[in-house]
Amino acid sequence: FGWWEHVSPAPKDPITGVTEAFLADTNPNKINLGVGAYRDDQGKPVVLQCVRNAEAKIAACEFLESNAAAVGSKLVEESAKLAYGTQAHVVKEGRVAGLQALSGTGACRLFAELQRRFYPGSPIYLPDPTWSNHHNIWRDAQVPERSFRYYNPITKGLDFAALMDDVKTAPDGSFFLFHPCAHNPTGVDPTEEQWREISYQFKVKNHFPFFDMAYQGFATGDLDMDAQAIRIFLEDGHLIGCAQSFAKNMGLYGHRVGCLSVLCADEKQAVAVKSQLQQIARSMYSNPPVHGILLVSTILNDPQTKALWVKEVKVMANRIQLMRATLRERLEDLGSPLDWENITNQVGMFCFSGLTPDQVDRLVREFHIYMTRDGRISIAGVTTSNVSYLASAIHEVTK
Ligand code: PLP
Repeated sequence: FGWWEHVSPAPKDPITGVTEAFLADTNPNKINLGVGAYRDDQGKPVVLQCVRNAEAKIAACEFLESNAAAVGSKLVEESAKLAYGTQAHVVKEGRVAGLQALSGTGACRLFAELQRRFYPGSPIYLPDPTWSNHHNIWRDAQVPERSFRYYNPITKGLDFAALMDDVKTAPDGSFFLFHPCAHNPTGVDPTEEQWREISYQFKVKNHFPFFDMAYQGFATGDLDMDAQAIRIFLEDGHLIGCAQSFAKNMGLYGHRVGCLSVLCADEKQAVAVKSQLQQIARSMYSNPPVHGILLVSTILNDPQTKALWVKEVKVMANRIQLMRATLRERLEDLGSPLDWENITNQVGMFCFSGLTPDQVDRLVREFHIYMTRDGRISIAGVTTSNVSYLASAIHEVTK
C-alpha cells in the first residue's frame, strides 16, 4: 500500500495523444496536423528574426533583477496597446488592470480565479466547440460552465442566429468567452457586422465579454484587423477582459509570455483589481520568468524591431492562407464531389474540415496523417511538399 494507490492515470490530452502517435510512426510520408504551433514551408519550427534581434539587445545590456517589475509594467502597457489600440483612452486614463501572465493559458487561469472570487457561482459561457483547455481551466477554478451555440456543422460556418439566441436567453450579467480572431478549433469568426450586433446585445443584457486572444495576427496577417472585435466592444463602452498570448504570433511557445487585462470604470478600480490579480498570482507562482517578458517588451518598445515583427507575422499568416488555397485547389483538381469552400472561408491556424472520426482514423491507418478526431486540421503542418499527398488522402477517405 502506498500513499498514491487510489490515484489512477489522468485521461490523455487529445493533442498530446496525436503527437505521441505521430512520433512513434516511422513512415517517411507521415504528417502531423495535430499541434497548433507554426511551422515553415519545410515543416520546421521558426525562431523569428525580431526575437533574435531582441535576444542580442538583451545580451548587450546589463539587466538588473530590480528592474523586473518595471519590465512587467512595460509589457502590460504595450500589450494593452496591441489589444485596445495605440490611442485607446482606457490605456491613457489608467483604467487597465493588467498583469503579465504565463502565456494565454495562465492569463485565462488568472481571470477564472478572479471571476470565482468576486462573482462566486456565476458561470462562464463557452462557445461550442472551444479550445479543450478552456473547460479544464474554468473547472479547476471552480467556475460553473455553460455553453453557447457557435458552429454549424452543416454550413461549416457560424450559427449566428443560435449564438444570438443564447446570448439573449442567458441571465443578464453573464460572463461570456469569445475568441476575437482565428477561433480554435473551427477557424470560424463572426463578421464585423455580426460582432457589432453581439456587442449591442451585450449592452442590452449587461453581459461581460472575456476575449481569449491567442492568435492575434494569424487571421488576416494584420494585428489591428485581428483585434477588430475588441475595438468594437471598446467603442461601445464595454468593460472587457482580455487574455493575450505571445506564444504563436512571436513564436515564443516555451517562454510562456502573456498578459491579462481587465478594463475598469476608473483608475481606483483598476488599482484594486490589479492588486487582487497580483495576490492570486503570488500564491500560485509568484512571478513569471523574466526573460520572455524582456524579449516581448524589447520587441514592442523598439520601433524598428516592432516593424520587423509586424512583417514576420504577415509572412506566417500569408503562408497559412496560401496553404489553405492550395489544399482546396488540389482537392478540386482531384474531382472531389464535396464542397471545400470552408477551407478558404475559415481563418487562422485551424481548419474544421468536416472529416468524421472514422475518416480521421483511416487517414492515420492508411496514410500516416495525424489530426484530432474532431477533424481539425492544423494548417501550419501543411507544406508545399506534402499538400498534394494530403489532398489525395483526404479525397480517398471522403469518396
Ligand atoms: N487560447 C486558445 C484559444 C488557444 O488555442 C491556446 C493555445 O492553443 C491558448 C489560449 C493558450 O496558449 P498558450 O498558453 O500557449 O499561450
